[in-house]
Amino acid sequence: MSAELNPESTAFRSALEVVRSVEPRIADAIAKELHDQRESLKLIASENYASPAVLLAMGNWLSDKYAEGTIGRRFYAGCQNVDTVEAVAVEHAKALFGAEYAYVQPHSGIDANLVAYWAILADRVEVPYLKKFSKRQVNDLTDAEWAELRAAFGNQRMLGMSLDAGGHLTHGFRPNISGKMFDQRSYGVDPATGQIDYKALRDTAKEFKPLIIVGGYSAYPRKVNFATLREIADEVGATFMVDMAHFAGLVAGKVFTGDFNPIEHAHIVTTTTHKSLRGPRGGAVFAQESLASQVDRGCPMVLGGPLAHVMAAKAIAFAEARRPEFATYAQQIVTNSQALAEGLLKRGVQLVSGGTDNHLVLIDVHPFGLTGRQAEQALLDSGVVTNRNAIPNDPNGAWYTSGIRIGTPALTSRGLGAAEMDTIAELIHTVLSSTKPAEGSKAKFQLDESVSDSVSKQANELLAGFPLYPSVDLG
Ligand code: PLP
Repeated sequence: MSAELNPESTAFRSALEVVRSVEPRIADAIAKELHDQRESLKLIASENYASPAVLLAMGNWLSDKYAEGTIGRRFYAGCQNVDTVEAVAVEHAKALFGAEYAYVQPHSGIDANLVAYWAILADRVEVPYLKKFSKRQVNDLTDAEWAELRAAFGNQRMLGMSLDAGGHLTHGFRPNISGKMFDQRSYGVDPATGQIDYKALRDTAKEFKPLIIVGGYSAYPRKVNFATLREIADEVGATFMVDMAHFAGLVAGKVFTGDFNPIEHAHIVTTTTHKSLRGPRGGAVFAQESLASQVDRGCPMVLGGPLAHVMAAKAIAFAEARRPEFATYAQQIVTNSQALAEGLLKRGVQLVSGGTDNHLVLIDVHPFGLTGRQAEQALLDSGVVTNRNAIPNDPNGAWYTSGIRIGTPALTSRGLGAAEMDTIAELIHTVLSSTKPAEGSKAKFQLDESVSDSVSKQANELLAGFPLYPSVDLG
């Protein structure tokens, strides 16, 4: 190995050599993933590129340690180093977000939400003893029995954003356990503006009287006024939770402040750490001190043993996000997203809500005669990686959809700016306007190969000026 290699190249090359000695196919797949990511125009709103320091903090013997429990109070011996790691991650997380309390153990965003729901239930609901259910398996319960159980527990209700307006499955929808735990009612957007209808939300909350109001989203392109949501929660006696998984980077980077900063207004806030926040794959919970002891029970109530190696990487990511450069990065994410929206609008592309205030843009592909599924694949065939998404009142449902969600956190990490966003808008418009749906199919389509090849080539040329992980040379 060359002596002149920088530390990142040396570290990753050495790691791959060690992995290769056991199973070359895994080493090859890891190396190929870097190659593929370097070549792809990644517009997936929920993805990013973590720093080499974040990635390297995960590949070590912290992974070998069991550490159920909390800092200084573990169910296993010998956790002093995990205690240090978790305490440093918590210290950075609290300082970064200005939170009273932080819990950095959740393995993912879904896990963080489950921890939060359980903490709220434990805090607010008196548990009855129901003999009838004592020997039953939850998987065998009928819907009616679930309803009976919920009623006995105080009929817990959740009010969250509807899926087609951009909400997430974990906000009380059937494919997730939250849909069993809670009676769910949704709030949506005003069809005229595509933005949250706060008046309708307030009316629904007053009538439904939820235990929890959930703010936050996966596919809503606008700011949310969390101060107003808190006001509504207070009016109806609900606990106000925000899932900031998508926009945590914009909160950390002080783009969302005041009424738009969930930490200032919610009783409890959950997040992922790997999207706009640019950390390792994982989750976290922030709460007011009064909920801390319930959240601390996350493991083993909801979570398996903490992943100490990932908590180490979270500490690195939180520390990175406390640097002034991160605020510049977060602002650039939004500048880029707005430039992309403008580039699309000026080419006649229809956007849900007519634009964006955050890291994502939602294209309505209906005017092109396409479903989201067709548009997603046509773009992918042309080297542009996006994902399909439902739009408000989507006529094509959640599978085929009528929307394409695009986001800028990843390309902003690569250094692309507003000028490049205009070029990308041109590429997207070229693909969408050249794609024709196949007769009678919501999935098949025709796209001239010369178009997809030309767009792919232009996308590659664009990316060549913005190398990904420039400090990492795998040889
Ligand atoms: N919450 C929101 C708003 C999300 O968008 C997502 C993932 O896309 C999650 C939670 C779940 O995160 P994870 O995949 O880490 O479980």
